[in-house]
Amino acid sequence: MQCENLYDLMPDFVDLSALPADADKHVSNCLRCQAEMAHYRSIRRSLSEMKSSMVAPPTDLLSDILSAVRPDADVVRIDKKSRRRKVVGGIAAAVTAGAGVAIYAAKFAHKHKIAS
Ligand SMILES: [Zn+2]
Repeated sequence: MQCENLYDLMPDFVDLSALPADADKHVSNCLRCQAEMAHYRSIRRSLSEMKSSMVAPPTDLLSDILSAVRPDADVVRIDKKSRRRKVVGGIAAAVTAGAGVAIYAAKFAHKHKIAS
């Protein structure tokens, strides 16, 4: 068996004992495949740890988003006859939503930077 043949199987068989016998034999003698299996086990372990952690949004997230969106509310008002204004309103809404997400991401990163 070749290493390349195993790479597609590895994510499904992070438990070495669950590998088919020929694959298990190859991995037992191949440092490259052992390293790859260790990598997948590490990813799976990290994902398992993340499953139990819950991130609560900051309490002021809603007010931050609303304060970022409301100043542009006039731009979002659409004259039904004007297609151009609809596009501008859509872009403004997308920009303000992006600003809200950026504010949240910055606060989240800052909070976790302080905590660690
Ligand atoms: Zn190999």
